Amino acid sequence: MQEDDQEQDVDALKTFEPIIQEVIAGRTEGHKCPFCREGDLECTFDGLNLKIVCKNCGKFFEGMLA
Ligand SMILES: [Zn+2]
Repeated sequence: MQEDDQEQDVDALKTFEPIIQEVIAGRTEGHKCPFCREGDLECTFDGLNLKIVCKNCGKFFEGMLA
């Protein structure tokens, strides 16, 4: 269902938000996954596209910042 996907995105956005802020600020290393609390997060930000992936549980956030 489309609506379920959207709710999951909002949930991921809220949960990842503090990390998203740090990644935007240039700190992409050393973040722990807020979902499973075990995995290391792989964060990339090239000035436009932001991507956060948990190597442990697979939770991810992808966004474009305009
Ligand atoms: Zn995780």
